[in-house]
Amino acid sequence: MTDTRRDDEVAIVGAGLAGCLLACFLARRGYRVALYERRGDPRTGQVERGRSINLALSERGLDALRRIGLAEQVMSDALPMRGRMIHPVTGETTFQPYSATEDRAINSISRGALNNALLDAAEAAPGVRIAFDHRLVGLDPATGDMMFETPAGKDPAAAAVVLGTDGAGSAVRGQLLGYGALTESLDFLDYGYKELTIPPIGGDYALDPEALHIWPRGTSMMIALPNPDRSFTCTLFWPTHGTASFASLSSPAAIEAHFAAHYPDLPPLAPNLVDDFQQNPVGLLGTVRCGPWQVGGTVALLGDAAHAIVPFYGQGANCAFEDVVELDRCLDDCGDDWTAALPLFERRRQENVEAIAQMALDNFVEMRDKVASPMFQLGRRVEHALERALPGRYVSRYELVSFSTTPYAEVRRRTRRQHRALGAVAAGAVALLLGAAGTAISRGRRG
Ligand code: FAD
Repeated sequence: MTDTRRDDEVAIVGAGLAGCLLACFLARRGYRVALYERRGDPRTGQVERGRSINLALSERGLDALRRIGLAEQVMSDALPMRGRMIHPVTGETTFQPYSATEDRAINSISRGALNNALLDAAEAAPGVRIAFDHRLVGLDPATGDMMFETPAGKDPAAAAVVLGTDGAGSAVRGQLLGYGALTESLDFLDYGYKELTIPPIGGDYALDPEALHIWPRGTSMMIALPNPDRSFTCTLFWPTHGTASFASLSSPAAIEAHFAAHYPDLPPLAPNLVDDFQQNPVGLLGTVRCGPWQVGGTVALLGDAAHAIVPFYGQGANCAFEDVVELDRCLDDCGDDWTAALPLFERRRQENVEAIAQMALDNFVEMRDKVASPMFQLGRRVEHALERALPGRYVSRYELVSFSTTPYAEVRRRTRRQHRALGAVAAGAVALLLGAAGTAISRGRRG
């Protein structure tokens, strides 16, 4: 057992997306960083079955990566998706571009590949050491004393500042909870997710690789994102229990019959459908809220550890990356005084994170249900026409969330203002029309 006490270090617990990026940013500021990760080095291992997760990386994530010179490398593995391809039960697929100009894209990237690129960058950064196979099991927020479980036994450590980037089920958050230093609420959906695979056909993509494919089915849905190996990873978002749920389909015949009836274009493209469905795990979906995110200006939570959200806006990782950029800005603004920077970080991020948590929940209804409706499709076309007619003055919510770094809370305020203004214009137009019709009728009567 080694006592790795380094009071001059910043400890980051969790070498996932946010943790590795944070290590790079802090190294750039001149900090010595110890990055602890419960898993072994993922660059040498296998991806867990059914947990590949490909992410839609958009402007906020790219902005963070650009700041450490990593965007170009990451983008070389990414596949641009310019819109949604809607797969109805019967009939033709339809394409809905994400932006008015049809040239903007969100980017499909494997979470594993992104994590590995960030691990490489963190490892190469001066002053960063990474301890794999280190699971945090104890933390005293008053002293920064930590306890890790490793294959060789317990390993104590300490740091001046401890940052928890250990994901939605954060052990750091659990420790702070145990000390009564914060409160949390976990709102799980009655839905889970399960991955399936569409392999390449004849060496090529089985579906259009420039789209995010959606099979909206009212109360549930499936999506598919392209991979560089020309396969697609499909993700089912279904109720966990009840009719048409994961639990309701147990036999191969029932699985085949369900997909043939509700996703008829899938079975010919997915030869391992039944096996994938039976073998792949069901993941949970929920929103984590907690507060405060920091204790005493020396221990703090970032990313999913502080605020996991449901994945329906494709923003969890983008938002976690934005946390890192904001913390870096707070350290700038506070002259690297952590006791001032961490509370400032929380104040600046809180309302933004709450805004995207809510928008992500709203977007589930849009994706699984509304996108299939002709009224919704007309609305999107009108929105895009307005964006073209009033460039910079009318900007859709999707555009602001995915293709800008406008703070999420400001996105909500701005889109509400735009909708109110549009409502007023529409009401004015109706009033004018009614007025004109009334005048014409009375003229007609007089004539
Ligand atoms: P994580 O990536 O979860 O990393 C946490 C790390 O901490 C892990 O490496 C873990 O092993 C480690 N750890 C955990 N416990 C301990 C411990 N006790 N000690 C030490 N280490 C520990 N986001 C997007 O932006 N776009 C998308 O399209 C998108 N799609 C998604 C689809 C699905 C199905 C899901 C589930 C999520 C999706 N997300 C998406 C969200 C995204 O994956 C997360 O928001 C992101 O991974 C959060 O990064 P993080 O670093 O905070 O946490």
